[in-house]
Amino acid sequence: MQMLNKNCNAPTDLKNPLIEEIHFVHVQIAQLKEKTKNFYFHVLLSQYNCPKCSGELTMTDQSQCSCLCGNILDPTLTFQKSICCGARLIRRTFHYACSRCNKTNPSRFIFDERVFDREYFSRMMQASRVKARKKKEEMIRFLTEARSGELPLLQEPCLELIPGLVEDLNDLVGADDLIPDNSRLEIDTGFEMDDYRSHILSALGCGSRMFSSINRILSDPREDRIWRFVTLVFMRHEREVELTQQNNDLLIESIEG
Ligand SMILES: [Zn+2]
Ligand SMILES: [Zn+2]
Repeated sequence: MQMLNKNCNAPTDLKNPLIEEIHFVHVQIAQLKEKTKNFYFHVLLSQYNCPKCSGELTMTDQSQCSCLCGNILDPTLTFQKSICCGARLIRRTFHYACSRCNKTNPSRFIFDERVFDREYFSRMMQASRVKARKKKEEMIRFLTEARSGELPLLQEPCLELIPGLVEDLNDLVGADDLIPDNSRLEIDTGFEMDDYRSHILSALGCGSRMFSSINRILSDPREDRIWRFVTLVFMRHEREVELTQQNNDLLIESIEG
């Protein structure tokens, strides 16, 4: 409580004397329980003696007792018989069972028996399953509520309808970094898309050509390929040409309109 007050800066007059004292009550209960347990085992084990030396037995662990002669044994297995068949017991992971019919038998030598109690165990398992199911249902409900409403797309979305959206999208994907803007392009390379367009159209005539077979305009072959391609993309967008990939080349077909 002192630490709590120090951290929360709670006024001291808010201290609840009942809460202050509860710690001592807990300690008292734990001590009482320990004493009761010791007494219970003392009375219980007074009926039995060490099978080796007939000495006095003391409880040293859960369902384990020891004698001064060094003999350590499981009293449930040694002294208890099954209630159902009067047969010897065998130890399973969480309980003792009758060696004849396999029925669970609670041990007399385990104080405050919980894990070994079949009913308690199945009750706890059931509670745990219910809790897990509830948690799952809550999560499903939470996710369903968090879902946005339906968005019926009756027509192709028009990006221009929302002012600034195209710029924002370009910013988002870094499109401006990938494709230099036209003005810089024209200054740097002397690129004119119209020149390329007429060049490609004249090369095509009315038939088709491969991308690689079109003569270049710019002296730099790499740059020439780039702008030839960029122009073609624009021309395709304008429905002037159709482009089909063929191996590492591109088939260009003019669309008569
Ligand atoms: Zn002994
Ligand atoms: Zn049995």
